[in-house]
Amino acid sequence: MFSKRIKIKELLAQEPQGQEVIVMGWVRTFRNNQFIALNDGSTNNNLQVVVELGKFDDELLKRITTSASLKVTGVIEASLGKGQKMDLKAATIEILGDSDAEKYPLQPKKHSLEFLREKAHLRFRTNTFGSVFRVRHALAFAVHKFFNDKGFLYMHTPIITASDAEGAGEMFKVTTLPVDGSASRDDAGKIDFKEDFFGRATNLTVSGQLEGELGATAFGDIYTFGPTFRAENSNTARHLAEFWMIEPEMAFYDLEDNANLAEEFIQYLIKYVIDNNKEDLEFLAQRLAEEEKLLPQDKRSEMGLIEKLEFVLNNSFERLTYTEAIDILKNSNQNKKKKFQYEITGWGMDLQSEHERYLVEKHFKKPVILTNYPAAIKSFYMRQNDGCETGKETVAAMDILAPGIGEIVGGSQREERLDKLEARMKEMHIPTDEMWWYLDTRRFGTVPHAGFGLGFERMVQFVTGMTNIRDVIAFPRTPGSAEF
Ligand code: ATP
Ligand code: MN
Repeated sequence: MFSKRIKIKELLAQEPQGQEVIVMGWVRTFRNNQFIALNDGSTNNNLQVVVELGKFDDELLKRITTSASLKVTGVIEASLGKGQKMDLKAATIEILGDSDAEKYPLQPKKHSLEFLREKAHLRFRTNTFGSVFRVRHALAFAVHKFFNDKGFLYMHTPIITASDAEGAGEMFKVTTLPVDGSASRDDAGKIDFKEDFFGRATNLTVSGQLEGELGATAFGDIYTFGPTFRAENSNTARHLAEFWMIEPEMAFYDLEDNANLAEEFIQYLIKYVIDNNKEDLEFLAQRLAEEEKLLPQDKRSEMGLIEKLEFVLNNSFERLTYTEAIDILKNSNQNKKKKFQYEITGWGMDLQSEHERYLVEKHFKKPVILTNYPAAIKSFYMRQNDGCETGKETVAAMDILAPGIGEIVGGSQREERLDKLEARMKEMHIPTDEMWWYLDTRRFGTVPHAGFGLGFERMVQFVTGMTNIRDVIAFPRTPGSAEF
């Protein structure tokens, strides 16, 4: 019996012509005992429900409070007021759920994003989070559409794994052993994981790439889109302990093919949202502009949100090598005046986010694809470039850096030559015996292949203009915080 309800977004797209409708939603405001602004989450635009004076009981009207849920039936008429094209003239109003105005945590006024993070269970009922999460949904849908249209296979890689793809060690352990110190130990005094659920030590995945490679070397093109976990103790505006990553992996791709796909993918996602979420983007652009008014002039963006997205859509990304980037940074005034926190010491150093941001925001003013990093600062599976000077070995890696975000994509061509891969793993103390299954792809019909990881929340940040990553995931997991 609820099925006859029309969503407010769909209704507002119609012309008012006396249609009889049933709507349901939550009260945003109730003015003069006469005008209810009703929102059902399908759009930030509220439906104005007009309550005729004297037609309803006072007792009922008292219960129409902020965030109470209602079922309203009535007739749609052209609005006499400004600001909306139609009104719903209420014939019946049913309170589905009361909301005690004294106790409801969100007032009909502007709240800070920090405050709303503490009320994350209710923040979806605000315009900002309504827009952010509708855009997030659209982006997720567009991810699948992009790859499906290209004939990629969506692969679900495991969440619980015994391997550490990055070799970085920032993993959450998964165990059923007691944590009070009573777990049995082996002769050397170490915890005996043979007693554990899986008979070995396991952790939450930091990346689906290694398993993705197994898929790519059979299906050709695959992608994963799932949660990943990193116990990195970095309280930044762009790191989460639990985040979603999209990882395409392609057989018969080299680094350039990889970069081309990543660029096309990012532009596709942006275009999808511009085409399908105009209203939400306009709202978010205005929100960002207001937020930036509070910043000193030199900290404000040169472009508005939509302008920025259109710029990224219509301009190709700047491509350069790590070595070229080091030269630019070294010769920059910023470096000469010692304005970087970390000075550019020379070839071989890892780039800090201040350096990446300088390249993207000050020097090129557009997204940048940096390639061919020193082997020493990258993962074991990246393809070793041939013909490097001794001591200056590089790998076929690429990072994509975006304005305001920094690294948004990390990827590489993979080392497909068994001997080179094994040698590298030994150098980096990666146990080759445990990785027998990974090495098998290089033993049986190995092929050149490549892939990358796009941090989904960083992409949502980029598109919505939200400065803190905690505001683009429903319930952020960060150091010291796992509420809800
Ligand atoms: P960063 O240097 O920013 O920590 P990373 O080099 O650790 O990134 P990768 O291991 O290459 O990142 O992961 C691929 C992508 O996943 C990154 O480009 C980024 O978009 C995203 N990402 C990585 N770590 C996080 C995190 N903790 N929270 C959210 N997204 C992340
Ligand atoms: Mn990291």
